Amino acid sequence: QSNFKPVTHVLFDMDGLLLDTERLYTVSYQRVRNRFGKKYTWDELLSETRKIQERILPSAQMMQRVEKLIHHLCKHKVPIAIVTSSAGLTFEMKTSHHKPDSFLVCANRFTPPVTCLSCFLVFEDAPIGVKAGLAAVMQVVMIPDDKLDRGLTQEVTLVLRTMEDFKPEMFSLPAYD
Ligand SMILES: [Mg+2]
Repeated sequence: QSNFKPVTHVLFDMDGLLLDTERLYTVSYQRVRNRFGKKYTWDELLSETRKIQERILPSAQMMQRVEKLIHHLCKHKVPIAIVTSSAGLTFEMKTSHHKPDSFLVCANRFTPPVTCLSCFLVFEDAPIGVKAGLAAVMQVVMIPDDKLDRGLTQEVTLVLRTMEDFKPEMFSLPAYD
């Protein structure tokens, strides 16, 4: 018994939700910022941080307990997809509303087509992604970074501390064995 609508499809945000990349982006900005005595233009800053990111992002680890859910959904043939805008300008992603349509674009790629947008469950870590998911009229589970201001998490469908706390049956998905 729950107040949530049944879902048939699950969308995962990549950065900070599937992969522990947010910490690595921070490391890259920090490293550039720490180079005292040099002023960067916007383009230089982007290219310098990107050089560092290319080096360190391959070491990103899967976030805690995400693997278990993905295996579970695959086992039960629940369609899933990863939604990200990080292949483009990573810095832009952090500073603008770059992402709002990405969930709808992704939703439209499923075959057979899914017409019920609330049948999508979105997993997000960031307020901007949560807003985008809600704007797409999807249900959104937020697993925010510990450092995030809780005031930013109020409109969301459900907030969890970790993926461990997610119970698939709340959204009419098959329960864990
Ligand atoms: Mg994210």
